[in-house]
Amino acid sequence: MEKQALDRHRDSVLRERVRMLYSAIPLSQGIAFAVAVILFAFQESQGQHNAHGWFALISGVLALRGFSAVHYFGKGSVVLSDRAWLTAFRLGAIAAGVCWGGAALLFIPDHDVTLQVFTILTLAGVAAGAISSMAADHGAYRFFVLLIMGPVSAVALMQGQQPQITFGLLSLLLLIFLDRSSHSYAKSLTHLLTLRFENATLITDLEREKKRVIDEAETMMGRILGSAPIAIWAVDAEGVVSFVEGGQGSNLEDLRLPPIGESVLADTEDRAQIAYQTRRALNGESFVAELDAERHCYEVNYGPLFDEDGNRQGAIGVAVDISERKRHEKELARLAHYDQLTGLPNRVTIMNQLEHAFEHARRNDRLVAVYFIDLDNFKAVNDTMGHKAGDTLLHQAADRLRASLRESDMPARLGGDEFLAVSEGLQRPSDAEVIAHKIVGVFQQPFTIDSREFYATASIGIAVFPQDGATAEQLLQSADTAMYHAKFAGKNKYRFFTSAMQATAERHLEMETELRRALDRGELFLEYQPKIDVMTRTISGAEALLRWNSPSLGRIGPDEFIPVAELAGVMPHIGDWVLRTACREAVAWQRLVRRPLHVAINVSPQQFRNTDLLANVTQALVESGLPAAQLELEITESVLVQDTPEAMRVFNALVDLGVTLSLDDFGTGYSSLSYLKKFPMRVLKIDKAFVRDLGKRGNDESLVDAIIAMAHSLRMQVVAEGVETEAQFAYLQQRGVEMVQGYYFSRPVSAGAFQEMIGIQEGDAPVTARITKDRRSAGLVGAAESVD
Ligand code: C2E
Ligand code: MG
Ligand code: MG
Repeated sequence: MEKQALDRHRDSVLRERVRMLYSAIPLSQGIAFAVAVILFAFQESQGQHNAHGWFALISGVLALRGFSAVHYFGKGSVVLSDRAWLTAFRLGAIAAGVCWGGAALLFIPDHDVTLQVFTILTLAGVAAGAISSMAADHGAYRFFVLLIMGPVSAVALMQGQQPQITFGLLSLLLLIFLDRSSHSYAKSLTHLLTLRFENATLITDLEREKKRVIDEAETMMGRILGSAPIAIWAVDAEGVVSFVEGGQGSNLEDLRLPPIGESVLADTEDRAQIAYQTRRALNGESFVAELDAERHCYEVNYGPLFDEDGNRQGAIGVAVDISERKRHEKELARLAHYDQLTGLPNRVTIMNQLEHAFEHARRNDRLVAVYFIDLDNFKAVNDTMGHKAGDTLLHQAADRLRASLRESDMPARLGGDEFLAVSEGLQRPSDAEVIAHKIVGVFQQPFTIDSREFYATASIGIAVFPQDGATAEQLLQSADTAMYHAKFAGKNKYRFFTSAMQATAERHLEMETELRRALDRGELFLEYQPKIDVMTRTISGAEALLRWNSPSLGRIGPDEFIPVAELAGVMPHIGDWVLRTACREAVAWQRLVRRPLHVAINVSPQQFRNTDLLANVTQALVESGLPAAQLELEITESVLVQDTPEAMRVFNALVDLGVTLSLDDFGTGYSSLSYLKKFPMRVLKIDKAFVRDLGKRGNDESLVDAIIAMAHSLRMQVVAEGVETEAQFAYLQQRGVEMVQGYYFSRPVSAGAFQEMIGIQEGDAPVTARITKDRRSAGLVGAAESVD
């Protein structure tokens, strides 16, 4: 045995040994007393006088020892230390040993062998008998046996004759034997006790460790359960809740589980779902189910609960709050079906709804109208005011669209500035007109963004199911085509789809493709139409007019291809080319005459939105060397309608440069006097539509007169376009118009022809002659003439 183990358990072993010693006292002292009585009685009968004294003594000792045991098992073991008790025991043993040893001296008479044998045997028996009751302490026993057998052997040996000597020697041997036996008993007992304590300690340690591990796992489990946003519960086979635990954020109380000891199967209204699901789990099913509680939504894993032997014992539920995920899913669904900016249904949604609407219409023999709505000025607002303003505009546009529709009509946003509306249950296609009219109407009101007013009219294309398309995709395509035509026809309009539109749309698409390459391929060129000074009848300048000679499409007029180029967004690019080319060519003619000739260039509204216009003009002037004073820019009213500070800034900067601004096609558009006052226009061009009927009988000329008078009062020069007859010219001359343009003097001609016109040969008048001859124009005095 390890010494450490002995040391470790020394105290416990001692305690146990003491306990064993005292436990043996009642029986051993009882027997000892009986032996003492017999011995006493026997000695008495043999006439031993001192037996009384001996008996009284040994009885006292035995009684004391008995008392000591009683005391030990009373409170004694607590009051005194084990070592003290051991010492007490040993003293008791010594006292008893002395008494028994005394008996040897007193009761072994030298004369009677029988008596001798009896006494020796009795004492040897006492000594041997005590070996077991004192097995726990070899020390006590050694004294005891020595004190008994010592005197026995001594007395016997001292007799000096046989058989006493033999008795003495035997007693001595017995003494040694008993002492050795007791020694080995005590040793093995100590060993066993140590072993026992060592085992007990080991077991305690093991148990403590086991408990610690379990405790730790439990606290860990508790902590995990407490921190996990999950709720766990278990029910027994009857559905009675046996365990409930909810971590932080599990919203356990929201699940409305009954308390432990109550059944979850009771079909109360707020527990119907959980009751049903638990029943399934109790039937052995494992599944995941959703649970809509009062405030949250959960995903619950249900499964059977087994006992240690693997028998089904109940069911468990593990709930995770998935409200947040649900919200996200809903949000995703919303994002997938609704336009984020305006909250309107998106393309996917409206296309679905359209298909439903078709079914409905087929069943009820009704029509479905689709309105393809495109904002006319969105790009301008977006480019000049920024995306935020653009978003605001779209938002407001969506609100207006909603407001202009009936409850049953469906609005949607397709993307960008494109909206869609669908109305069902129409009887005639013309029923769609009312709505289209209304939509156009609401978009004619100015929009207010950042306390500024903007115009963003709507162009609408209408297509009707089933005649214009059998599927949502086809119908949308038709409506788109019709919208394109509304745009092309000058915007702020609605158009019904016609099959002819398809062809036009296709041609325009082709044109668009060709136009994108036209510049690079040199298919575009300029013609110049002279402007005639009414007073002198001389050429004062020319208007540059764009021409396109497409190899695949043939010659196409600007009235047709420019709107296409604008819608395709290539016009700023082309316009820049026109600007540079016209300036360069103008410088070439200028070399031929001494007085300044000006060149007028048409500027598309898109070039205005393009903030580079100012830079482009400056660059064209610098590149060509044309003085700014000889450049005139013709602007249509649609540019003015924008009325943005940016446009105003560009106008003023151009005027500061020395460029002349003129208002083209006056009378055809918005024709607002306020524009004329506000913008720095120097020239007003009366549209040819007004000139055409001049001088005709019964024509009301007061409008033209008013325009001229008004322009003059604003100190603007007036140019009349489209003068074709002498009568028209005469009328305009009489009204004080400063300049005219028209076939009467010259059609637009090539740069070369114009150069000729203004006098290739100074001093001659070939230009007049040629023009007169070639162009059938009358009364034109060649520029070359006036050079002289
Ligand atoms: P506009 O600026 O009003 O140009 C005058 C138009 O009237 C020209 O048509 C010209 O050929 C035509 N015209 C001139 N005299 C007469 C006449 O006596 N009788 C009749 N019936 N017409 C006459 P054109 O060349 O077809 O141009 C049409 C429009 O295309 C122009 O109208 C202008 O708005 C636009 N345009 C032409 N070139 C350009 C350009 O380079 N840039 C831009 N942005 N627009 C251009
Ligand atoms: Mg013009
Ligand atoms: Mg014009």
